[in-house]
Amino acid sequence: MDTEHTTEGLDPEDWDRFRAEAHALLDLCVDRLQGARDYPWQLMPREDIPRLALSGTGTGEVAATRRMISEILPYHTGNTHPRFWGWVHGTGLAHGLLSELVATTMNSNCGGRDHVASYVERSVIDWARRVMGFPETASGVLVTGTSQATVVALMSARTRALGAASRKEGIQGAPLVAYAGAGVHSSSAKAMELLGLGSDALRSIPETDQGMDLNALRARIAADKAAGLRPFAVIGTAGSVDLGRFDNLDALADIARDEGLWFHVDGAFGAWTRLADAPWRHLTDGIERADSLACDFHKWLSIPYDCGLALIRDGADQRAAFASRPAYLEGQAAGLAGAEPWFCDYGVDLSRGDRALKVWMAVESLGEARLGGSITMNCQQAARFASEVAERADMDLMAPVISNICVFTAAASLSTEEQSALNTRISHELQLSGEAVFSTTKVDGVTCLRAAFVNHRTRDEDLVAAVAAIVEAREHLKMSGVL
Ligand SMILES: *Cc1c(COP(=O)(O)O)cnc(C)c1O
Repeated sequence: MDTEHTTEGLDPEDWDRFRAEAHALLDLCVDRLQGARDYPWQLMPREDIPRLALSGTGTGEVAATRRMISEILPYHTGNTHPRFWGWVHGTGLAHGLLSELVATTMNSNCGGRDHVASYVERSVIDWARRVMGFPETASGVLVTGTSQATVVALMSARTRALGAASRKEGIQGAPLVAYAGAGVHSSSAKAMELLGLGSDALRSIPETDQGMDLNALRARIAADKAAGLRPFAVIGTAGSVDLGRFDNLDALADIARDEGLWFHVDGAFGAWTRLADAPWRHLTDGIERADSLACDFHKWLSIPYDCGLALIRDGADQRAAFASRPAYLEGQAAGLAGAEPWFCDYGVDLSRGDRALKVWMAVESLGEARLGGSITMNCQQAARFASEVAERADMDLMAPVISNICVFTAAASLSTEEQSALNTRISHELQLSGEAVFSTTKVDGVTCLRAAFVNHRTRDEDLVAAVAAIVEAREHLKMSGVL
C-alpha cells in the first residue's frame, strides 16, 4: 500500500478546532434530546445507504462529524420518541450523554485490575442485588443484554449440575433438560443451543395469563425423570416479551427446591417492577429466591444501549463456570493487576467496555423513587390505553393488560384474515407517518397491534392521540379499498 507515513499518532491535529467541534456537537445532541418529540423514526432514504461505504481515505474529524450529523443522526431507531411503543425498546436517558463522555475519556478495560471502573461495576451490581433481594453471597456481571446474561446464568447452572470437570470434558451426552413457559423469550432456547444441550431440551410448558401451568410442569418433570433424563433448571419469566405475562415465581421456587433444580428468572424488563408501586410490584414477588436472574438495564430502566445484568445467587457457582486465567493475566498482590475479583472470571469476555458508569450515573442522579415512578407510570398508561381501546367502536383487547403491554385489534368485527391485514397495515402507516410506533404479534391466529410501554417520555395525551390516529388510519384504509 502506498501510504504516506506520519509520526504524530492519532490525536486531533488541531485541538482547538476539535474542542469547538465537540462543544457544538454536545449542544446539538442536548437539543436533539430536549426536542425528542420532534424526531420520530423516519425511513432512511434507500439511495443514501451506499453513501455510508467507507473509502478508507480519511477526511478529518470536521468533515466526518458533519456527515454523522446530517447522514446518520436523523435515522435512529425512533425509540427516543414519546410515541414509540414497539417491541420492548428502552428510551434512553439524557444522563447517558454525560456518563458516556466520561467513560470514553477514561476508556477503561473492565476485564479486571485495580481501577475505579471495576469498583463502579461492583457498586451497580450490589445495588441491583439489593433491589432484587438477593443475598450478599451473590455475584454478577454486566453484559450486552439479557440474551448474554441468560448464557452466563445457564452455564453456571450447567456447571453446577455436571461439576467443574464438564468445562474440560464437555457434557459427555448428559441428558440435561430444562423447563420454561410457552411464552419464554427465544434467547433461552438460544442459550441451550450454545451450551450444547440443544433447544429441544428446553421443555415448553403450557401457560395461561397467570403464567406456567404448574401441574403441567410437575408432570413433565416426572415424565422426563422416568425416561432417564436429568432435569437441571426451570426458567421463570417475569414479564414475557409478547403478552407481558409473569410466572408465579414463588411457586416455581418451591418446585425447583423440591425437584433439586436451578431456578433461573428471565426478568429482562419485568424484573424492574420491583421498583414500582403496588399492585405491579407484587408481580415479581419470589424473585429473591432465584438462583440466577437475567435482566436488562437498557429496557425499562432506560439506560442507553447496551447494558444487561447476570446476577447469580451464589458467587461460587459463577466462578466455577467462568474463572480461568492464564499466566499473563495472573492477579498480583499490589499494583495495577491487584484487586480481585476480576470480571473476566464471571462471564465470557476478557476485554470489556465500561457499561456500569451509565447505570451508576442514572441511579445516583435520578434515584430509585424516580426510576420506579416511571415504571409505575408506564403500567398506569397501559391500563389507560386499554380503556381507550375498549371504548372505541370495533376495537378490542386481545389479552389482559398485566403490567405494561397492551395487545389489541383495530377491527374486531372483521374476519381473522382481514383483521390481520388491517392491523399490519395500520402499524406500517403510523410508523411511516411518524405518528406512533406499534409492533404486531399474533393471538389466536389474528395479527394484532401491540404496545409495550417502557417509555419515560410518554404522556397521557400521547395515548389519546395514538388511538385517534389508529381509528383514522383504519377508516382511511377501509375507504381506500385496501381490504
Ligand atoms: C428483550 C428480552 C430478552 C432479550 O434481551 P436482550 O437484552 O435483547 O438480549 C429476553 N427476554 C425477554 C423477556 C425480553 O423482553
